[in-house]
Amino acid sequence: MTSPKDEAGDTRGPSRRELLLGSLGLVATPLLGACNKDAAPVGPGETKLPKDKVPKERDMKDIDVAIIGGGPGGLAAALTLGRAGREVRVFDAGPPRNAAATHIHNFVTRDGTPPDEFRAIAREQLGLYPSVGVIDARVSAIAGEAGEFVLTTAEGEQRARRVLLCTGMVDEMLELPGFAEAWGHSIFQCPYCHGWEVKDQSWGFLATNSEGLEHGFAQLLRTWSRELTVYRIDGVEIPAPLSEVLASRGVKVETRSLRALEVEGGALRRVVLEDESRVPCEVLFAHPPQRHVSLVADLGLELDPGGYVQVDPMTRQSSKAGIYAAGDLTSRAQGAIFAASTGVHAAAMINHELAALGVYPSSVAP
Ligand SMILES: Cc1cc2nc3c(=O)[nH]c(=O)nc-3n(C[C@H](O)[C@H](O)[C@H](O)COP(=O)(O)OP(=O)(O)OC[C@H]3O[C@@H](n4cnc5c(N)ncnc54)[C@H](O)[C@@H]3O)c2cc1C
Repeated sequence: MTSPKDEAGDTRGPSRRELLLGSLGLVATPLLGACNKDAAPVGPGETKLPKDKVPKERDMKDIDVAIIGGGPGGLAAALTLGRAGREVRVFDAGPPRNAAATHIHNFVTRDGTPPDEFRAIAREQLGLYPSVGVIDARVSAIAGEAGEFVLTTAEGEQRARRVLLCTGMVDEMLELPGFAEAWGHSIFQCPYCHGWEVKDQSWGFLATNSEGLEHGFAQLLRTWSRELTVYRIDGVEIPAPLSEVLASRGVKVETRSLRALEVEGGALRRVVLEDESRVPCEVLFAHPPQRHVSLVADLGLELDPGGYVQVDPMTRQSSKAGIYAAGDLTSRAQGAIFAASTGVHAAAMINHELAALGVYPSSVAP
């Protein structure tokens, strides 16, 4: 007696082991299934590719969705689309935003998982879906329109009906000596992610702008530690009424501006103030400025007042038809599980839209 898989013979696709090995590799992972040619709204004659840049055959395949970014957002989106039989390629340039962190926390079932392991597990699971491929390559440009996008990558060019941006954000390191060295080790942005492990140590909140103060971030941090001091950089003022509220909650407010951090092997020891006095401090929370990757900045999409890519709340489509966005680049509410959630949301809406247009996976196409 043969199983359905055995009957499929050579057409069954790669074995689970092959998929696993391929998907764990850090090189291109072309886990390609049948191409969805039937419903393709673009044909070779309709592309806008320059003649001197004929892509490799593999890359000439039209796909349903090109996902740019292989973090929690992009990987979760790929899973949803793969489970709908959609031809998907995830392009990832690395490194992830949380590259400096040793563990991901506050993601149920994955609490305490190293970021690399998180991505490897995701790629392993995606390996089970033959229409999904993960390619380690940077996308340098996106041209074309909905239905016929053309992506330029180091691996060649890729045509896709829809694009999902999951490129995250880039944290700009402050020019304070010691800041970059301690980032992700003892300087954190989110207490839900890293507060528990260092609770009750001597904490500081570094106000880099008025926003965090106005939103009560200092009061929030008090949840984890009795020992909390608010610091500021030059140009940021801590309003007197707020100082009074903080004092009533046992939070110290340092009026001298912060000039440097004393760090040993990533571990913060002291902060150095403008008058050169040194104050012991083990953990600092801060929100350095963020920027979009150049690919996203160059697209000229509409941004929200915070500078994040504006998406339709229902569809997660950006201001450019056919380009969707999910994850950190769409919100200041940044966390791995938020990114994964919005990735799933965007993926489901893209599939919904393609289905509404009558574009189906080739295996079920009318
Ligand atoms: C130090 C630190 C620690 C953190 N710890 C936690 C934690 O413990 N728990 C938690 O929930 N959250 C944590 N976060 C937040 C979390 O990392 C992010 O919210 C999450 O990674 C966002 O996922 P994303 O998919 O939107 O983007 P990212 O994870 O940043 O992934 C984006 C990917 O896109 C790639 N990319 C960008 N441009 C291109 C391009 N042009 N072509 C191809 N690929 C491209 C990048 O290389 C990157 O791999 C932490 C953040 C930091 C900075």
